[in-house]
Amino acid sequence: MKISYEPITVHLSMPFVIAHGASTVRHNVLVRVADGEHEGWGEAAPVRQHHETQVSVLEYLAAAARTWPAHADPFRLEELLAALPPGSQAGRAALDIALHDLVARKLGVPLCRFLGLSPEAAPPTSFTISIGPLDEVRRNAACAPFPILKLKLGADIDHCIASVRAAREATGARLAVDANCAWTEEQAVRAVPALADLGVEFVEQPVAEENVEGLRRVHAASPVPIFADEPVRTARDVARLANCVDGVNIKLMKSGGLREALRMVAVARAHGLKVMLGCMIETSLGITAAAQIASLFDYADIDGNVTVTNDPFLGVTLDYGRLILPDGPGLGVRTR
Ligand code: MG
Repeated sequence: MKISYEPITVHLSMPFVIAHGASTVRHNVLVRVADGEHEGWGEAAPVRQHHETQVSVLEYLAAAARTWPAHADPFRLEELLAALPPGSQAGRAALDIALHDLVARKLGVPLCRFLGLSPEAAPPTSFTISIGPLDEVRRNAACAPFPILKLKLGADIDHCIASVRAAREATGARLAVDANCAWTEEQAVRAVPALADLGVEFVEQPVAEENVEGLRRVHAASPVPIFADEPVRTARDVARLANCVDGVNIKLMKSGGLREALRMVAVARAHGLKVMLGCMIETSLGITAAAQIASLFDYADIDGNVTVTNDPFLGVTLDYGRLILPDGPGLGVRTR
């Protein structure tokens, strides 16, 4: 087996604005794992809040490639992934995705079939509406062809409530919100009931990542489900936060790939939690990898490729938020 990788600059058609910051371009990494006549593909989408960059992912992959066993059996996924060095969850995710693509291609089956899943059972994906002026939120909500919208919210609670009201007036879609750690506990306790009154279905990560007690108190007082995102990276975090939330947002770039994401779903279910499948800004390669396991989730929020203007790949497609997987082997992803 041989690892190769290359940087990719991902451009967006509209600014992506959340409480952590704004961006119109992202710096990801594409990975290939070749074995014999077959090749598997993966993607890393590093983000600042995880202290990862394109450069750190490239360094991680260079280190991983140096110790990668050239003659290993690619079907020994657990052993191969356990032997990877620590240091980059996004880099690890790219290798995990590429190995899954590789082995399913070798078998000639779609990855979801290899995993024993039923792709038509997946929930529809939501579409993310960035923080912005009210007329922009209204316009974006009105024209989004999705049955559920996730509004990003910031620290100004009055603007948060006005944004949700604007979206509510503009569309009949289901609404959810994500504060991305922006609120104090006091702000959250004030905002959440007002947002629930506007029909918001759930609230994601209301308080700071490290404020576990605050999360627990907001959850206890909330009339709608509270989901944790930023503090939830691996299965251990799911168990740690199980009494503080109603659900967890699982992303391949946090978990380090599909295998740990599947373990996180199992741990969450064992604790009676709901599960959401999230993503970063990714091409159709990373998004199609996530879509392969979407049927295990209550909510899907894997719209990270929708506003990418230079996506080199064709993979999962959407029909009013419904995820339609390609039927080719592995991820089923091909280049344009
Ligand atoms: Mg989130």
